[in-house]
Amino acid sequence: MSHRVVLGRWPARLPRLLLLALGLLVLVPASMAVVMARNDLLSTLFHRHTAVMLFVDANTGEIVDANQAASDFYGYPPTVLRRMNIQELNALEPEAVATERRQALSEARNYFIFPHRLASGALRTVEVYSSPVTLESGRQVLFSIIHDVTNRALSSGEQLLYQQRLEQAVATHTSNMEEVRQRERNLFIASLVGAVAVILVLAATVFRRSRAELALAHREEQLSTLIDAMPDIVCFKDGHGRWQRANTFDLRLFGLEGVDYRGKTDLELARYQDFYREAFMGCEASDEAAWQAGYMSRAEEVIPIQGGSAKVFDIIKVPLFNPDGSRKGLVVVGRDITERKHAEAEAERLAYFDSLTSLPNRRLFLDRLGTALSAAQHSRRYGAVLFVDLDDFNTLNDAQGHEVGDLVLQEAARRIRAVLEEMDTVARFASDEYVVLLPELSALEHVAVDQAMAMGERIRLAMAESLLVGQQEISLGASVGITLFPTPTPAGAKDLIKFADTAMHQAKMAGRNQVRFFEVDMQARVEARFAMEGDLRLALGRSQMQVYIQPQVDQGGQVRGGEALLRWQHPERGQVSPTSFIPVAEETGVILALGDWVLEEACRLLNDPRVQAQNLRISVNVSPRQFHRSDFVTRVRQILSLTGADPGYLTLEVTEGLVIDNVHQTVATMGELRALGIHFSIDDFGTGYSSLSYLKRLPLNELKIDKSFVQDAPENPSDAALVDVILSVARHLKLKVVAEGVESPAQAAFLTARGEMLLQGYLFGRPMPMDAFLAQLG
Ligand code: C2E
Ligand code: MG
Ligand code: MG
Repeated sequence: MSHRVVLGRWPARLPRLLLLALGLLVLVPASMAVVMARNDLLSTLFHRHTAVMLFVDANTGEIVDANQAASDFYGYPPTVLRRMNIQELNALEPEAVATERRQALSEARNYFIFPHRLASGALRTVEVYSSPVTLESGRQVLFSIIHDVTNRALSSGEQLLYQQRLEQAVATHTSNMEEVRQRERNLFIASLVGAVAVILVLAATVFRRSRAELALAHREEQLSTLIDAMPDIVCFKDGHGRWQRANTFDLRLFGLEGVDYRGKTDLELARYQDFYREAFMGCEASDEAAWQAGYMSRAEEVIPIQGGSAKVFDIIKVPLFNPDGSRKGLVVVGRDITERKHAEAEAERLAYFDSLTSLPNRRLFLDRLGTALSAAQHSRRYGAVLFVDLDDFNTLNDAQGHEVGDLVLQEAARRIRAVLEEMDTVARFASDEYVVLLPELSALEHVAVDQAMAMGERIRLAMAESLLVGQQEISLGASVGITLFPTPTPAGAKDLIKFADTAMHQAKMAGRNQVRFFEVDMQARVEARFAMEGDLRLALGRSQMQVYIQPQVDQGGQVRGGEALLRWQHPERGQVSPTSFIPVAEETGVILALGDWVLEEACRLLNDPRVQAQNLRISVNVSPRQFHRSDFVTRVRQILSLTGADPGYLTLEVTEGLVIDNVHQTVATMGELRALGIHFSIDDFGTGYSSLSYLKRLPLNELKIDKSFVQDAPENPSDAALVDVILSVARHLKLKVVAEGVESPAQAAFLTARGEMLLQGYLFGRPMPMDAFLAQLG
């Protein structure tokens, strides 16, 4: 009797919901008519289905509708249940339930485990599958199927663990897959709601068949059309696992088209299609599991495809029982989620791996380092972090193009990986930065240091081998910084990386292609350097910079020119040496503004009548970064026209290192400036590694013998010999010579005895302010 009452209420409440659910199936419009015809059928189904089902208002928690199974389970009459709020059933705090409901609504989650309280006061643990549906009125409801899992033999501890694990899995999944979810969201809900709706429809036919044969033929035909149009697996089996009805998609999938499958079990069908044997057997096993569970079960199953790779299906199985509890039938619905799985795998790859080298990225590395760090604290064994940075990668990338750059980065990744052990990790952090984790080294510090150092050396050597790209041989090199963990004072994963990075910078400063261990005072040095960087950026604007001039004289002591040298008067540190701040300026790019300014000052000096009267040349040092900027020639032109200086009296000093970086470009830039009348001098000659063949290609005018040769030449025969070699190179290349660092008359005599040259050094004058230099000229 109660059914009739329920049925009487039904059409007013639920049809829209189910229609909406079915609408999501994205079926041919004609099938909607079929759906309409089945309202009464669906309502019957909802209320008669043995699964507990609720429609809950997503915002307020009101129970919009509940079926008979729900009434039986919770122990409230249906009319009472429909006036209740889900909060009255859920034993969690109201806030927690509301949060969960919002999660379900935003589709961040569709699976929950809750403690639900029955009318009797008993507490049951239930699994809830929830799927959001928006009504035409705009009201949002959650269609929920509820399973009592209290009797699953789980202790409360296990239960909690189970819940945490599932929820964690869902949470991790959602946070990582946000992007994929966005794309897949609609498909996923459609799948879930669609599947449920189809189950209901299918199950309905079964019920109907047993209840009344009247008009069934016609309806079944319509239903068949609907089911066959679905791009999902739909299959109905009887209580003995014999196939009763499968849709076209399912038959095609298993190669059963044209096969009389009705009344056959999976085992029997496997005989027709040996290829699917395993899949059929797997089906049978999971059918049995669904029967045993006694409620809707859901699993992913892999089904092989003939002549192709396998597909993954999201399969839902709903067992139906006779009133006496015997098995009545099993509904199987499955959706192809292969693409979604691929997308998920891809998203995971993107989330954790670098796409160029396929190495783990920073995020995965930090994860692993965190784990290794806590493991090391327990095991009392050391681990190490190695920071590897390719030398001169940016120059190479600019000169050779990004394609070559990418190849180099991939090769570097391959080389590092090749020298590592199985348990080690290498990640790519930024352009040419790689970070290596050695999680398990010795428990003895000095042994661990040796082990880490040996690995650093292996990496450095592996990188030092040159690489062939096309016809071109590229020489690589890397600087490596190492730090051990755990550290004496506690440091986190990010600190360790900073330490290793600091050590790597020290390796670079020490001349590159080296391995350095992190030492505590390194950090202090690095911090001091940071402070200098900050001050340096402000120095020019605060007029702390000055250009000094050091005279260059001929053999008779007559001033012939001067070299412009920067001086930094720091308010606290006093005068800071260019040897300490020029490299920082170079690295930070401050050198660009400084260089422009020095050049401008030198040009103004050239305009001074006293300088002009004596035809003095002024030399200006140009750093590699300044010289290689794409608009260097333009800048020089601008400064010349701004000051009106005569370029014929300007000399630019460059170092050998600058030349080697990129010969083609260097020759071109020098050529353009030479055309303006500017001279070029090669500074600190003899300390670099330029070969004669390089130098021959450059439009040079002058060579400066480095002060290190000059200083010992009179006493040290090998230095004397070197000076002779340098002078013969200069003669060969037809270059003028300037000797730097001449401090004593003996040095001056030694040099002047060997030929014509200019001399520069304390003997003839220290670098001095411009005014002093001009005053000296008289
Ligand atoms: P540099 O171009 O080789 O300059 C010569 C250095 O030798 C100067 O050092 C000068 O003061 C020093 N010197 C000169 N005569 C003697 C001597 O008789 N004995 C000794 N022991 N040293 C002498 P300073 O001024 O400290 O400059 C160091 C380096 O800083 C320069 O070496 C140059 O490479 C760089 N530098 C200075 N000013 C600039 C600048 O405006 N731009 C760039 N890019 N670099 C600069
Ligand atoms: Mg110089
Ligand atoms: Mg020099």
